[in-house]
Amino acid sequence: MIPSFYDEGTLVAVLTTQPLDRALDYKAPEGGCHLGAFVEVPLGPRKVLGVVWGPGKGDYDYAKVRSMLRVLDAAPMRDEMRAFLEKAAAYTLTPMPAMLRLATRAPGLGDPPSMRKVYRRGRDEPDRMTDARRRVLDFLSEYGELSFTLKELAELSGVTSSVIKGLVKQGAVAEEDSPRDLPFPPMDPSRPGKELTDDQARAAGHIAQAVRSGAYGTTLLRGVTGSGKTEVYLEAVAACLKVGRQALVLLPEIALTAEFLKRVEERFGARPAEWHSGATMTERRRIWKMVGQGQAQLVIGARSALFLPYQRLGLIVVDEEHDTSYKQEDGVLYNARDMAVLRASMLGAQVVLASATPSLESWANAESGKYKRLDLEARFGPAVMPTMRTIDMRAEKLPSNRWVSEELKRAVEARLEAGEQAMLFLNRRGYAPITLCRACGHQVGCDQCDARMVEHRFLKRLMCHQCGETKPMPTVCPACEAEDRMAPVGPGVERLGEEAVELFPDARVAVLSSDMYGSARALKAEIEQIAEGGADVIIGTQLVAKGHNFPNLTLVGVIDADLGLQGSDLRAAERTFQLMRQVAGRAGRAEKPGTAMLQTYQPEHPVIRAILAGDEEGFWRAEAAQREAAGVPPYGRMAGIILSGPDVAQVFDAANALARNAGALQRVGAQVFGPAPAPIARIRGRHRVRLLVKAGKGVALQGAIAQWVGQLRLKGDLRLAVDIDPQSFY
Ligand code: ADP
Ligand code: ZN
Repeated sequence: MIPSFYDEGTLVAVLTTQPLDRALDYKAPEGGCHLGAFVEVPLGPRKVLGVVWGPGKGDYDYAKVRSMLRVLDAAPMRDEMRAFLEKAAAYTLTPMPAMLRLATRAPGLGDPPSMRKVYRRGRDEPDRMTDARRRVLDFLSEYGELSFTLKELAELSGVTSSVIKGLVKQGAVAEEDSPRDLPFPPMDPSRPGKELTDDQARAAGHIAQAVRSGAYGTTLLRGVTGSGKTEVYLEAVAACLKVGRQALVLLPEIALTAEFLKRVEERFGARPAEWHSGATMTERRRIWKMVGQGQAQLVIGARSALFLPYQRLGLIVVDEEHDTSYKQEDGVLYNARDMAVLRASMLGAQVVLASATPSLESWANAESGKYKRLDLEARFGPAVMPTMRTIDMRAEKLPSNRWVSEELKRAVEARLEAGEQAMLFLNRRGYAPITLCRACGHQVGCDQCDARMVEHRFLKRLMCHQCGETKPMPTVCPACEAEDRMAPVGPGVERLGEEAVELFPDARVAVLSSDMYGSARALKAEIEQIAEGGADVIIGTQLVAKGHNFPNLTLVGVIDADLGLQGSDLRAAERTFQLMRQVAGRAGRAEKPGTAMLQTYQPEHPVIRAILAGDEEGFWRAEAAQREAAGVPPYGRMAGIILSGPDVAQVFDAANALARNAGALQRVGAQVFGPAPAPIARIRGRHRVRLLVKAGKGVALQGAIAQWVGQLRLKGDLRLAVDIDPQSFY
C-alpha cells in the first residue's frame, strides 16, 4: 500500500510536466502533503508544476534533495486519475510528463480563486435621476438577484462605467466582491424530457439501467441522423445525474454548437460546462477546478475534456464516435474514443458511442459482444431517409472547368423554385487543388513539404495544407519563367462557389469551409445563420457533414463521390461510406423529404453501391471480411513509426538500423515493413520515413515496441514518433 500522506521532510516522487524520463525526489514541505497533491517544485532555476506520485526512490543523497516549494490549492489528483494516466501512457507509448500536461491544461491552477467586483441593485435611490441612471436601475431591477461585472453592466445597459460608479457612491447600486471561479449552476435531471418513441424509450431504458448499476459497460447506439440518439443519451445523462455522478458528452469540436448547448440547457434547466478550444483561460480554470470539486455535473467538450479531474464520473457519451477528429494527430497520439472506454472501465462508468455510421472497430466490438449494441431504426417523426442516386459522370459532357452536371443543376433549380435549400458537397478546401504552368507543366509545390500548394482566392495566396505556409500567386512560372501561363486545375469549394453563382444567378450562394472564418466560433455562427435560411445554395467541405441541422435542406449533391476512394489508406472505403451517408443525412431532416445525388465515375464500385442501397450491415460485413483476411485492424494490430529529420540520409540510416534489429518484435511474432518514405515524405522541411508494425490481435505490442525503439539513440535533430492504431497514414 502506498501511503496517502507524507509528513514534512519525507522523500516523495514528484512527476512534473517537464520532459524528464522519470519522477524526481523531493522532500515534502512544511505541513506535509497528500499523495496526488498538485505541487510546485524547484527544477534548476525554475519553479515547475508537479504531482506527488508516490514514495521517493531515495537513490540520491538525502541532504542534497530539495524541498517542494508549496502545495497548490487544488484537490489532489485521485488514484483513479493517476492510474488512468499511467495506463493511457503505456497504451499510447507516451512519456508521463506529456500525459500530465494533458491533464493540467488550465492556467493558474495554484492561484487562489481571485476575487472580482460585481454589481447589483442597491437599497437606496439616487439623489438625482438621469436617463443613463434610469437605464442602469431599470436593467438591474429587471434581473432581480443577478449581479454583473462593471463591463457587462455598462455594455448591457448602454452607459459608461462612470455612471455606474456614480450610482455606487449613492448606494443605488451595490458593489461586492465575488470569487472568480464560480460553481456551475445545478442541473435538474428530473425535468421531463421529450416523450420518447418505443424504440427510443427501450434504448434509453437500457442505458439508464446500466448507469444505475454502477458497473462498467460500453453501448454502441446506432441510428440514422435524426433518429433521436441525442434525445436518448440525454436520458442516460439524466439517469447519471440522478445517482449523483458526473457526466461527460464528447463531441467533435465543430459539432459543439450553440444549438446543441441550448438543447441541453432546455433539458436540464441550466447551462453545462463547455470545454473547447475557444474557451477562455479563466473559463478553463473554472471548469477544471469545479469538475474536481464535483461542482460541474455535466461537461460538454471536445476530446481533451476526457482528461479533466472528475470527482465521480459515471457516464461518457462519445457522439459521432466514428469522427476522425477524436484521434489527436500531434503531440500525444491518442484516440479519445478508445481512451474514454479505458477510463470508464477503470471507474465503473458507462460509455455510449453514438453514430449514424459507426467505425468498423466499434461495429466489430459490438459483433463480438464486447459492446452492447442498440439500434434506433427510424427517423423521428415525418422525416425519412433521403432518396439516393448516382449520376454517372462518364456519360456527362461537361465543358472544361465545370463540375456540376446538367442533372444536378436541374435538381438544384427545382429546389430553388420550391424555396428550399440545396447543398453542393466537395471535400476540397481552397480554389483549386493544383496550380499548373501551361507552358511547361510545372506544378507549384511547397518549399518545405512534399505537397502541392493550393490556391486560396479569398486570401489571394497559395497555401500548403500540410504546414500552412503561404506564398503569393506567381505570375511567372517558377520553373520555366513563362509569363502569365499559370492556371488553376480542378475544383475546390471556392471555385465551385463561382460556378454556382453563374449557374444560379438569382440564388444566394454561401461557401462554408473551415479556413474561411477566423475562428471555430465565427464559423459556427455562420453555419447557424445559414441553417436558418441565410442562403439558398450551400457549398461545403467535410465540416458541414458534422451534426448540423439544416431544416430547409432537401437536396445534397456530392460533386466527387470518388474522391475518398483513391489513396492507399486502409480506411478509405469506410471513410467514404461514412462521409457520404452523413452528407446524405443532411437532406430532409425536418418535414420535407430529401434527395442525395452522387456524381461518380465508378457507379459500380462496391462502396458506392452499398451507399446507394443503404445496406450498412452488408457494407460492414464485406469490409470486415476484407480486413480480417488481411489481418489488419480491427482484426490485427498495427503501429506506425515515423522517423523525421532534416537530413534524409540520416533518417533512412536510423530507420534501416531499426528494421535490421527488430528482435524484440520478432519474439512476439510481429512483422516490420519498411522503411519507406512516408506518404507525405517531407513536412516543414523535415524528411519523414515510416516503418509499419503489424501483429496478431492478441499480441502485447506496446512492450515489444518500447523495447525495440528504446535501443535507438536519437542523434542530433532526429525525432521518432510511435502511433499505436494509426488512423491516418501520412
Ligand atoms: P440524432 O441525434 O439521432 O441525430 P436527435 O436526437 O437530434 O437525433 O433528434 C432529431 C430531431 O428530432 C431533434 O430535433 C429532436 O428534438 C427531435 N426528436 C427526436 N425524438 C423526439 C421525440 N421523442 N419527441 C420529440 N422530438 C424528438
Ligand atoms: Zn508546406
